[in-house]
Amino acid sequence: MSTEEQIRVSYGTAQKLGLKQGQSEEEPTIAYLMLPGERCRGGCSFCPQARGDPRWLSRVSWPLLELQDTIERIKESDLTRVCIQSPDVPDYDDKLISVVENLGDMKKPVSLSTPPLDKKTLESLKDPVDRVGIGVDAATDRLRKEKKRNYEPIIFWNYLGKAVDIYGDGNVTAHLIAGLGETLEELAVAIKRSLRAGASVSLFPFKGTARGRNQDEVDIIYYRRAQLLLALLDQDHEVEEALHLILDDPETVFEVVDEKKAFQTRGCPGCNRPYYTTSPGEEHKNYPREPTPEEISRIKEQVTGVEA
Ligand code: SF4
Repeated sequence: MSTEEQIRVSYGTAQKLGLKQGQSEEEPTIAYLMLPGERCRGGCSFCPQARGDPRWLSRVSWPLLELQDTIERIKESDLTRVCIQSPDVPDYDDKLISVVENLGDMKKPVSLSTPPLDKKTLESLKDPVDRVGIGVDAATDRLRKEKKRNYEPIIFWNYLGKAVDIYGDGNVTAHLIAGLGETLEELAVAIKRSLRAGASVSLFPFKGTARGRNQDEVDIIYYRRAQLLLALLDQDHEVEEALHLILDDPETVFEVVDEKKAFQTRGCPGCNRPYYTTSPGEEHKNYPREPTPEEISRIKEQVTGVEA
């Protein structure tokens, strides 16, 4: 079977579609697909693809399956959207156009999460594509240069601006990773810059790519503060004010933000990315659903240090 007839499918999506055995406690609510290809040219230090392993993205495996069969099963499923991830492989733009064309009359909206695309390609993909995810990833240009060494740091902000011009305010999502070595203030500035540019923000907790127990990952309290920060900045609070509230008066923050939404996976409508950065049985960093009252009490304790 040629590569054009195949697609990578996140393991959870493959289980949901009956393409792989087993069932997860937390199921995806949208279909996660990834372009096949050999080695990603990005070289992002936090990504398993940089190790030349095209089967993995974050801690999730993406088996290579038959494209048409996968599309038919998505059409029949209750998954509400399709997200197509693309590593930076040769001709990824043409391959994306081909996969989107193969989706045919699927009456489900499509998101793309890709390296930079030119204006013509972005315009040609509009409808069924209605949203674009941009891997800004690192909060500062210095960190982006260090962690995404094969790219000029500025190109992701330029790509974000171009995508907002074509897809409109709120239809572009800046992907930002918390825990790459930035300060909470640097993260706040990057979030504010994304929001002011007309994008929404999706936070990802840093998780090292090493296999096994000694994986380095973001501190849970730092990540909870980052999630609260995004919730406050999304409510048009200014950076200094938001940081002051989170660091000096965290209990008030829980009265100001929607605590049921603040700790959930954010991004395109329906995107919940279960187990993308958290292993089954571990405490969710991005909840793939509304957290329970017990889970919210635990988070409050983490952030305020006050027993609930
Ligand atoms: S927010 Fe979710 S659905 Fe949207 S591009 Fe990112 S991973 Fe895909």
